[in-house]
Amino acid sequence: MALAGTGVFAEILDGEVYRYYADGEWRSSASGKSVAIVNPTTRKTQYRVQACTQEEVNKVMDAAKVAQKAWARTPLWKRAELLHKAAAILKEHKAPIAECLVKEIAKPAKDAVSEVVRSGDLVSYTAEEGVRILGEGKLLVSDSFPGNERNKYCLSSKIPLGVVLAIPPFNYPVNLAVSKIGPALIAGNALVLKPPTQGAVAALHMVHCFHLAGFPKGLISCVTGKGSEIGDFLTMHPGVNCISFTGGDTGIAISKKAGMVPLQMELGGKDACIVLEDADLDLVAGNIVKGGFSYSGQRCTAVKVVLIMESIADAVVQKVNAKLAKLKVGPPEDDSDITPVVTESSANFIEGLVMDAKEKGATFCQEYRREGNLIWPLLLDHVRPDMRIAWEEPFGPVLPVIRINSVEEGIHHCNASNFGLQGCIFTRDINKAILISDAMETGTVQINSAPARGPDHFPFQGLKDSGIGSQGITNSINMMTKVKSTVINLPSPSYTMG
Ligand code: NAP
Repeated sequence: MALAGTGVFAEILDGEVYRYYADGEWRSSASGKSVAIVNPTTRKTQYRVQACTQEEVNKVMDAAKVAQKAWARTPLWKRAELLHKAAAILKEHKAPIAECLVKEIAKPAKDAVSEVVRSGDLVSYTAEEGVRILGEGKLLVSDSFPGNERNKYCLSSKIPLGVVLAIPPFNYPVNLAVSKIGPALIAGNALVLKPPTQGAVAALHMVHCFHLAGFPKGLISCVTGKGSEIGDFLTMHPGVNCISFTGGDTGIAISKKAGMVPLQMELGGKDACIVLEDADLDLVAGNIVKGGFSYSGQRCTAVKVVLIMESIADAVVQKVNAKLAKLKVGPPEDDSDITPVVTESSANFIEGLVMDAKEKGATFCQEYRREGNLIWPLLLDHVRPDMRIAWEEPFGPVLPVIRINSVEEGIHHCNASNFGLQGCIFTRDINKAILISDAMETGTVQINSAPARGPDHFPFQGLKDSGIGSQGITNSINMMTKVKSTVINLPSPSYTMG
């Protein structure tokens, strides 16, 4: 049984506190302070990480700048080779990393292992994609623009940005970290990671896999501490050349404060599931349960509101309830379907939304039940637009159903949201599905399946308050580069074969 903080990972631990990673070494902070990570299931302190100081952040940024210059001169195939190595080491050590995910964020045991394996695959795919897309540039000739002869050749290629700051959220602290680390490194950038507090220890183990792969000193670093304390210092740091952030509203605040650097923001969602009368109702029920309740609804792309035609609503609600009754509720170690939500304050927030819906007359399909951070799955029927849960993201195992009388009503509700991450439509009529998809103001629409991030090479983006830019392996590599061109000016026009 592999244990976190032991074996090859022993050096990342200093007594009871996990070290941070700077200049190719595991260090303890001069602050002498640590941040507690509370296990969502036991509600007791599980781990501690260093509370890094501003001075330590400055040093990390300086080292990153120096390391990046040398890295940019490292051949692309060599960068890819190191990434492949890191991916293999990551997969080899999936057990202790998954253990951290179970203890820090109450991720069901099997899903925790899948997150690590998926992350290794993502890093390998990124290495391969980078070799292809960064290995090609463009040649432009001048005579396509009016008034020009062919006397100028423009060679354009992609160059790194410099130092990329990566800030992932708690729900996929490994996967959403490597989805930033991989593209940044293959493109020739240095990378500074600020992991979420819940999930930091899993992230530190993941970073150690990159360390073991042998990346140059200072190229990757990982500073820990509360986002509310060191977040602004990091995001406004003059040494940062790009910010890739995934999380909630914090991202909107960062966008307002960050300097003139490219931003990749993947923020919250209120993904709507529009169900038409001709849909396959079993398929719908299965997807509502999987889409709405996997990892207890703590997924950016969870189904967060069901908009269903009145005539089929009873039948679907009944099917969903039957499936919810079969979900296993309990600790993540037992591979339960529903596990405790990440913090007590999250549980309180979810409860606030449930109580508001109760006061305003929603129908409770199950009894509301909570023990500590564990909330039993709950479907709320007959939700109306005056209820908070019709619009807000619970990030928990609670799903509202709004009954609609026309497709337009469903599209209207979806588009009235501040969010625009994903949405889904269930119908057997593909022509209708396309029209509805086009009308939905979301970054992605899934037809006949619940929203999902992935496979990881698909483009992934949110409209409105759900984000800026697009992720997915190819898009992230491109986002973390800039185009540079060199123009060759000939003394006289030259036409090939002319
Ligand atoms: P969060 O509270 O916004 O935190 C995200 C990250 O930001 C954490 O690493 C956090 O660190 C850090 N942070 C906090 N304050 C900061 C500051 N002032 N400056 C810089 N960084 C700061 O989000 P979360 O609770 O972890 O995740 C849930 C949210 O993420 C949901 O809204 C969900 O929809 C969204 N999400 C979106 C996607 C997507 O791709 N669209 C994917 C997954 C999740 P600390 O943990 O130390 O506070």
